[in-house]
Formats: sequence, structure tokens, C-alpha cells
Amino acid sequence: MSKSSIDHYEQWQIALAIDLLDSFDPLFEVPEQRATLADLHQFLLEYGLSAEPEPDATDLATIQQLSADLREVVEVEDDELAAQRMDDLLDSVRPHASLIADDEGGWHIRLAAGAGLDPVARLSAEATLGLALALQHHGRDRLRRCAADPCREIFIDLSRNGSRRFCSERCSNRHNVAAFRERQRAREQE
Ligand SMILES: [Zn+2]
Repeated sequence: MSKSSIDHYEQWQIALAIDLLDSFDPLFEVPEQRATLADLHQFLLEYGLSAEPEPDATDLATIQQLSADLREVVEVEDDELAAQRMDDLLDSVRPHASLIADDEGGWHIRLAAGAGLDPVARLSAEATLGLALALQHHGRDRLRRCAADPCREIFIDLSRNGSRRFCSERCSNRHNVAAFRERQRAREQE
């Protein structure tokens, strides 16, 4: 499937989904990125979503649960189980479908969150659709977990040969340094 078939809106939905399920980074000073209502407020604004009415503690718990549920779709071993979990999540979404034309004369069904939803319902719907789109466009094997412990970041491997192992330069360097030290230690023990 060509990447050009993903439009901007879908890219936004996918980015939102991956960012939402990646709320924890043990290498940050404050590892949990969505721990407080202020964090959730900030997240909504970052993605251009309204933060009115202001989310409450129940909303925060809903989003934290969704984050864990979306993550499980990526991390669970079995494809069938992943599809089942994704279906369960999609069941709670009532998307609005429309047909849009691209520049090359192609047509695409676009699924958007329905109008009139409150911010957290909209965020939940867009992120759920976003993960489904990521699976459709990239495949579940391209949704990877960073290989440099203790990082657990999920990223989409868009490399041509599908060989990307780390979420970032930071983790790639960290891994290389650790591997180098490991080799040195082994040599010293010889
Ligand atoms: Zn990483």
C-alpha cells in the first residue's frame, strides 16, 4: 500500500493514537506523561482539540485506561487477539464516514469522530480510529516497541527494510554505549 493513500487527517489520528498509548517514558524525570488533569488538558490542546468542558478525574481515568487498552493491541503476542481487542475498542466508537477524493483521482472512505462529542469522548474516538488506521496502513509488525531497555516507547517503523529497532537517536546511542561496555567487561574477564 502506498503511503500517499494516508491523508493528513489520518496521519493526525495515527500520531494521536501512538502518542496516547505511549504515555510512559522511564527515562524522563517525570515518567508518566498523563498523570494529572493538567497533563490531559495540555494533551488535548497539543492536538488542537477543545478542552471545554474541562475534563475531570473520571475523564482522566478513562483516558488512562484507553491508553493501556490501545497499548495492549500493539503489545499482545497473538494477532487474532489483537484484532479482537481492536474490535472491542472500535465498538465504542460511532464514527462519521465520508468519501473524499485525493489529488490523483482516488477515493477514500474517511472515518472521523462524530460531531458534538465532549473533548474526552472525541479524543477516545480519534485515538481508537487512529490505531486501527495505523494497523491498516502499516501492519502490526511495523508497530514496534523500542529495543533499548528500560524504554518502552512504541513507534512505527517506516524504514524501507523494516529494520528499525529504537524509538530515537537517544535510545540507539544508549543501546550502543551499553553494548560497548558489555563487550569491554567481557574482554576484561577473559
Ligand atoms: Zn526508546
